Amino acid sequence: MTAQFDINQIRPQFPALHQDCNDQPLVYLDSAATAQKPQVVIETIRQYYSGHNANVHRGSHSLTATATAQFERARNTVQQFINARFSNEIIWTRGATEALNLIAQTYARQNLQVGDEILVSELEHHANIVPWQIVAEQTGAKVVKIPMKPDCTLDMDAFHQCLTDNTKIVAVAHITNVTGTRNPIEQIIADAHQQGAVVVVDGAQGIVHETVDVQAMDADFYVFSGHKLYAPTGIGVLYGKQAILEAMPPWHGGGKMVEKVSFAGTTFSGLPGKFEAGTPNVAGSLALATAIDWLQSLDREGAEQHIQRLRQKAIDGIAEIEGLRIVGLQANASLFSFIVEGVHHQDIATLLDQQGIALRAGHHCAHPMLDALGLTGTLRVSLALYNTEQDIERFIAALHKACSLL
Ligand SMILES: *Cc1c(COP(=O)(O)O)cnc(C)c1O
Repeated sequence: MTAQFDINQIRPQFPALHQDCNDQPLVYLDSAATAQKPQVVIETIRQYYSGHNANVHRGSHSLTATATAQFERARNTVQQFINARFSNEIIWTRGATEALNLIAQTYARQNLQVGDEILVSELEHHANIVPWQIVAEQTGAKVVKIPMKPDCTLDMDAFHQCLTDNTKIVAVAHITNVTGTRNPIEQIIADAHQQGAVVVVDGAQGIVHETVDVQAMDADFYVFSGHKLYAPTGIGVLYGKQAILEAMPPWHGGGKMVEKVSFAGTTFSGLPGKFEAGTPNVAGSLALATAIDWLQSLDREGAEQHIQRLRQKAIDGIAEIEGLRIVGLQANASLFSFIVEGVHHQDIATLLDQQGIALRAGHHCAHPMLDALGLTGTLRVSLALYNTEQDIERFIAALHKACSLL
């Protein structure tokens, strides 16, 4: 049994949180952009480079054998974490963005034809829009928007209208990054499958706050980045169903993704090597596995309840600020976006930064969603399991002060 979630045990494990920012203790409320890292994750990277650094799947000495074993064990850790059926369904990438581009440039490029449609929700991050626009341009397929409703949830009636025999791919976020909207992905996947379409789930936010079971969900593809999940930047995961991955052409060419190279022609490796050309981010893979083990050693449900409590406290504490409006408030999200009527979001962010409060201001890489809301940007408070009551009290006081000055 895991011990009950205790913030006092968690907070000290994050060295980056114990620093000053503009002469005041840092309050970090930008975890949806990237999360801070616990000491065990940092230690994994240090140990790797100061101990058994070696290339993987190459050479015959002991260091490379150790590195390779750890690298493949990390893949198994990810497999178990998302309950994939096979470990070779886990492909290492640089992050969610690279994984989405990989799917677009292999699966989609091979399968799309003129007249085919890719349904993309209006709530998406640019990483789940632009790769589809690029491959649509290359193949003559069309990107079709699934609109959202005024409450910032997906319009499921519109989705059902968009879903036709022409639909080949549906690309949606598990949880979105501007408002924390959770899309009904189980329903979306079931409906899309009935039309014979393949579903790509952007799990960059969802993986952090839910227990993901790709088999139960029946996602064809599920992608995420390590760095929002308490792991380093530059490492991420593409999950795909084995049969789909096997039928896909390779993307990058190079070492490890080949069986035999000759100038007469080249035969490619099987999974997962086919999609992992070149020397991979070994330290990143090991550190991601450490982050997952660490997270799984905690009471994750308790951690989410902690985050919910803090979010409610923040919302209650700023409610009476004049002109303040929460944009698309979602129940049970780990973040919220807001604006203050008549004041530019960047001006508020600057005044908060001067008080040591780090949060996100801007379009959050989601221009279409902001356009639909008629906004150029919002301020976003995004929480992680290491935030404290005191962080929220500091934020509330700082926002009141900022607004009184503007
Ligand atoms: C952060 C994010 C991405 C992109 O992740 P990278 O780590 O920058 O590749 C994609 N989708 C969502 C919903 C995100 O929050």
